[in-house]
Amino acid sequence: MGPLAEVDPEVFRAIELELKRQQNKIELIASENFASRAVMEAQGSVLTNKYAEGYPNRRYYGGCEYVDIVEQLAIARVRELFGAEHANVQPHSGAQANLAVYFALLRPGDTIMGMSLAHGGHLTHGSAVNVSGQYYRFVPYGVSRETGRIDYEEVAAIAREHRPRLIIAGASAYPREIDFARMQQIAQEVEAYLMVDMAHIAGLVAAGLHQSPVPCADVVTSTTHKTLRGPRGGLILCREKYAAAIDKAVFPGTQGGPLMHVIAAKAVAFGEALRPEFKDYQRRVVENARVLAEALAGYGFELVSGGTDNHLILVDLRNKGLTGLEAERLLEEVNLTVNKNAVPFDTQPPRVTSGIRLGTPAVTTRGMGTAAMKEIATIIHYALDHRGDTAYQQKARGMAEELCRQFPLYQE
Ligand code: PLP
Repeated sequence: MGPLAEVDPEVFRAIELELKRQQNKIELIASENFASRAVMEAQGSVLTNKYAEGYPNRRYYGGCEYVDIVEQLAIARVRELFGAEHANVQPHSGAQANLAVYFALLRPGDTIMGMSLAHGGHLTHGSAVNVSGQYYRFVPYGVSRETGRIDYEEVAAIAREHRPRLIIAGASAYPREIDFARMQQIAQEVEAYLMVDMAHIAGLVAAGLHQSPVPCADVVTSTTHKTLRGPRGGLILCREKYAAAIDKAVFPGTQGGPLMHVIAAKAVAFGEALRPEFKDYQRRVVENARVLAEALAGYGFELVSGGTDNHLILVDLRNKGLTGLEAERLLEEVNLTVNKNAVPFDTQPPRVTSGIRLGTPAVTTRGMGTAAMKEIATIIHYALDHRGDTAYQQKARGMAEELCRQFPLYQE
């Protein structure tokens, strides 16, 4: 077995090109980040060869003594990081983590309340095209038309009317802090379980920069690859009383063998997140988002809810006469990667949308600070407000290239 370049030059070349893309474009997709080399080394290790169905010291396969060490490290570290009674680090992804929770706590046909996808919720919170929306009766809640924020009185009223068995808090495109304590009150009033999906904000929670859902929720799910900066994957935290049901719902309920190489990478990432530098990183993520939001507002961009409390910004482009799809393409031309995103009460279809979502986790990992955020706002202003003007496009592209040079990625 030789190195990848010899064995499979086609795949090798595609990976090389992807590395160059990551190095040479400014990554503003709010759900992405750059994992450390240590995380990637663990993920690219021999652990990919090992079957380990079951849990540490309770496996269905022999030879698990070393992968047991790895999984126990991941569990201990993530419990310490979030102060959780129990952790399951096996979900292959955020979607798998959510599915396992539904499988553990509900029966098909039960009612769940979740944030509408159109208002910033996630596909797995009851979208009709997702298994969650087909096996359960989902009742959506959204944000207020006036403020762009969750209206907790309205959430409570919907909960009283529908008496769900489970309420989900958490979102993919909500720029404001979520009041988990208030969601807990609502869930308790209607005797529903509360699940928090903290996928987007897990890094902020770990750093103490967002209210923690762990004391408020029966179960917390997350991805590990967004603000948390680990490998792609999922996790579940819960109270001890749900531990057996959750573990059973992950394996054998909804998954087979755990991805031990990914669990090793999660352990490394959780270890990194326990270090003081991680808090400082998250502080810079939030500060960068705030500065980018202010600079964009200065150029006349309308921000959903007027700004941000976390790592992401939702820009409503309707006053600029642009769709999300058009803006995504225009920004791609000047080396900025973003995703089009529906804004609340959007009238455009999901493939077009009226907004873009921007996030600062990845650029902050590259070392960019507030001065760079102001430059990025200017690049966005040049690319979108001066669309069609090649001089501005060239200037914008040049500025983006210079930022990528100033803040190198994976070059040490
Ligand atoms: N939950 C939330 C809130 C998310 O934003 C996402 C991903 O974007 C997920 C779950 C799903 O994660 P994955 O893509 O790992 O399945």
